[in-house]
Amino acid sequence: MPLDFHYSRRLFLKALIGLVIGPAPALARIAKSRAVVDRHSLLNACQVSEYRFVRSLQQARSAVSEIGKRPDGHLAVCGAMHAGGGQQFATGAPLIETRQFSKMLDLDETNGLITVQPGITWPKMLQWLADARSAWTFRQKQTGNDNLTIGGTLSANAHGQGLQFKPIIQDVESFQLLLPDGTHKICSRTENRELFGLVIGGYGNFGLITSVTLKLTKKLNYKRLAVQCAVSEIPKRYDDVVRKGAVYGDFQCSIDEASPGFLRDGIFSAYFPIEVSVPLSALTPMRDDQWISLVQLAHQDKTAAFKVFSDRILATSGSVDSAEYWQSSRYVDGYHAIVDQRLMRAPGSEVLTETYVPLKDVHAFMEDVRKDALANKVNIIYSTIRFIERDDESFLPWARALSACIIFNIHTELDDESSARTADTCRRLIDYAIKYGGRYYLTYHRFATKEQVLACYPEFPEFLRLKRKYDPKRVFRSDWYSHYEKMFGE
Ligand SMILES: Cc1cc2nc3c(=O)[nH]c(=O)nc-3n(C[C@H](O)[C@H](O)[C@H](O)COP(=O)(O)OP(=O)(O)OC[C@H]3O[C@@H](n4cnc5c(N)ncnc54)[C@H](O)[C@@H]3O)c2cc1C
Repeated sequence: MPLDFHYSRRLFLKALIGLVIGPAPALARIAKSRAVVDRHSLLNACQVSEYRFVRSLQQARSAVSEIGKRPDGHLAVCGAMHAGGGQQFATGAPLIETRQFSKMLDLDETNGLITVQPGITWPKMLQWLADARSAWTFRQKQTGNDNLTIGGTLSANAHGQGLQFKPIIQDVESFQLLLPDGTHKICSRTENRELFGLVIGGYGNFGLITSVTLKLTKKLNYKRLAVQCAVSEIPKRYDDVVRKGAVYGDFQCSIDEASPGFLRDGIFSAYFPIEVSVPLSALTPMRDDQWISLVQLAHQDKTAAFKVFSDRILATSGSVDSAEYWQSSRYVDGYHAIVDQRLMRAPGSEVLTETYVPLKDVHAFMEDVRKDALANKVNIIYSTIRFIERDDESFLPWARALSACIIFNIHTELDDESSARTADTCRRLIDYAIKYGGRYYLTYHRFATKEQVLACYPEFPEFLRLKRKYDPKRVFRSDWYSHYEKMFGE
């Protein structure tokens, strides 16, 4: 999968220009062949044969049915293009992009339910709720990036920083799905239940999600309490803050490899609900330029970068703001090209990887990773630990028990040798997780070996069989799907 940088340099540059320019003007519904690449790892560059914007159910239906009728007609669907394993692209086939299929369809203020089209992003949904003066808000979103679509969120079965939350499937009331044969189905816990569990966390393999009804939660403000502590203290601190009523929380790990605290120490934050009468603190979110400078510093001087980052968190301990504020996260598309240019370095990116281990094993796991990272000079730009409860509803669950979710953002250069080294690193991290009975997140790359996939997702062959049941012609056939079809000899 890694981009062959020597052969694909032009394709990659064309794709990068496309990312910076963004979506085509509103009238250009179907563009000819176009180079595309995922927005974060930049390792999944490919040429798609057509680039179609859909803005309505009718447009989505006619695109799927027209492409599906072609000989070997197949396609992929994308939202904001942040998945890192080629889930949103099909090389040489049409790409259906949904970011303008993004209206709010209904807000049930009595029951706290919102129905939206799939291309809506979190900031846009928040704006709708604010405009409607709603008393409700979303319960969780990804905390690494705001500009992700709800279609992409469901397809990954994403999570945020809830202390006792399951992944997003817990917050989904229902969704509507356009199947490869053109039929349109409501999927929920009572209707088409099998599809409900397959599509959430199923990476666009079963059809195009055309609307989502999310369960909201009442708006509340939260106080952040942050302390410096060791990874070994996490299980105890987790129990303690949960007992005291915290709802959200996370741990930011030290990336300062020159220090004995590297991947051993960090900042534990917990967020406690607070009466509405308590005034909000006057917090200033990081600006884009400040965020890029901090990321740049993490590439130059990790000691200084972690100090700036942790001082910033500790300075806001005791502050009060909304759940939405605490869950929001600065991310600037195309940041790495700016960092590379400033540091005059070879084109690079970061590869995210996320592993899960039982809470009691988080310290031992991190010690394994620490040793490995130092021995192999793994360049960790960012690392955080969150928490997840067991998901007993999706077909390919990544959350099988209360677990620590350990996320690493690893610098890589884009040439073959560097990306192969990064892939090896990700495989070693998966092995450490497996050692503790854990697993990894499918969304960020497809570097895992077949043995690793089966150890972490024993239902994968059955998942592929069910894909063929619902989509016998494999109309929804991303590069991610083709990779696993080949791996499992389907
Ligand atoms: C910087 C960064 C931070 C992140 N932080 C988090 C985090 O905190 N928590 C977390 O859980 N994840 C996180 N992620 C992962 C992210 O949630 C997933 O990769 C998500 O799928 C991306 O959404 P997207 O809109 O970019 O979708 P895309 O990347 O465009 O697509 C992802 C998948 O969704 C499918 N899809 C999209 N729309 C539809 C639709 N309408 N119908 C059917 N299928 C569809 C695509 O086919 C594809 O399989 C992060 C990723 C990045 C790069």
